[in-house]
Amino acid sequence: MSGGPGPRTYTSRVKRIALLGATGSIGRQALEIIEAHPGLELCAAASGAQPIDGLAPLTQVGGDLTELLERAEPDLVLNAVVGFAGLPATLWALERGVDLALANKESLVAAGELALDAHRRGGGRLLPVDSEHSAAFQCLEGRPADQVHSLVLTASGGPFRGRTREQLEDVRPADALAHPTWNMGPKITVDSATLANKGLELIEAHFLFALPYDRIEVVVHPSSLVHAVVRFRDGAALAHVGYPDMRVPISYALTYPDRAATPLPSLDLASGLTLEFHAPDLETFPLLAHARRAGEEGGTYPCAFNAANEVAVAAFLDGRLPFLGIAEVVADALDAADGSPAGDLDELVAADAAARRHAEEAFAVA
Ligand code: NDP
Ligand code: MG
Repeated sequence: MSGGPGPRTYTSRVKRIALLGATGSIGRQALEIIEAHPGLELCAAASGAQPIDGLAPLTQVGGDLTELLERAEPDLVLNAVVGFAGLPATLWALERGVDLALANKESLVAAGELALDAHRRGGGRLLPVDSEHSAAFQCLEGRPADQVHSLVLTASGGPFRGRTREQLEDVRPADALAHPTWNMGPKITVDSATLANKGLELIEAHFLFALPYDRIEVVVHPSSLVHAVVRFRDGAALAHVGYPDMRVPISYALTYPDRAATPLPSLDLASGLTLEFHAPDLETFPLLAHARRAGEEGGTYPCAFNAANEVAVAAFLDGRLPFLGIAEVVADALDAADGSPAGDLDELVAADAAARRHAEEAFAVA
């Protein structure tokens, strides 16, 4: 997956990092990692609206992030913007062969083939920051898909694991924002509560690892200790295990191919860890099934899934849509989407906008 020329080394000089989404959950943890590592230097930082003057030699609040990247000429872009807004920066790095540490899963889900084409042309590294994908990347060690039997992504199950649909009718944003194992930004926390996040991750994994959907499985694993399991064709299965802390995959992506030290505790097996796994409840959390359908149908269906989900989550957080309405709005937008593949960025942006419009209209009349 880290296509292009052979491993580059940065031993002779520091790695200059452009951090997009510097004020967010991933962004703040990345700042901690960069500060602690003498081989990493922040050359540019961006946020959406919060002021970040003085955080880096170059900063930008909102606007076209590719302008900042052009000026900064980074060695690596850490894209930790939330949502489709991260797409231009993802394509910028992939197209130019600048290494990309990707937290912004929405851009890869939405752009899919366009992003992979840019990656092939650019030849830089595409390093996943999402914990499950970082875990899978480490287990896979660049092996081709034909050596892989299947990939298992784990899901904590979110704050509503074990509940029925009836019990979810009246849940409020504050309930959805109380995640049991991960402390993250509001959008992904709601996505974890609906399992849309695991749906996005399923599509993300398909594009990152060139695996068909029927070879990517999702299991619920409440303690979030096993991040991914790769089953190989010889019968061996490798699991990536560690305490749930995003600083580990962030550090891995920023310091790859090295594996730098972090201040985090190593796994204490004798403390009595429980590793429990079970199948997700797709009836109560249908967004995972909708994402799988969108991924399998391909074209711009994943883009429509993402767009409608972004709109629905924002409406839920604003109190304009009930929790169970999120899945309904997304299902409806997928039914209405035309789904034909995007030949270029303009067509992709049009597919995104159409799904957003449809989603807005759906709950405006609901
Ligand atoms: P947050 O909501 O905490 O932070 C989002 C960041 O994006 C903020 O810095 C925000 O700036 C910035 N931003 C939003 N819109 C724009 C824009 N148009 N231009 C520039 N910057 C913008 O999100 P998270 O850190 O939780 O998540 C970031 C990404 O990482 C998401 O794609 C998420 O799915 C992914 N991810 C997150 C994980 C986590 O543990 N948090 C785990 C795995 C993946 P401002 O503060 O000014 O609004
Ligand atoms: Mg994840």
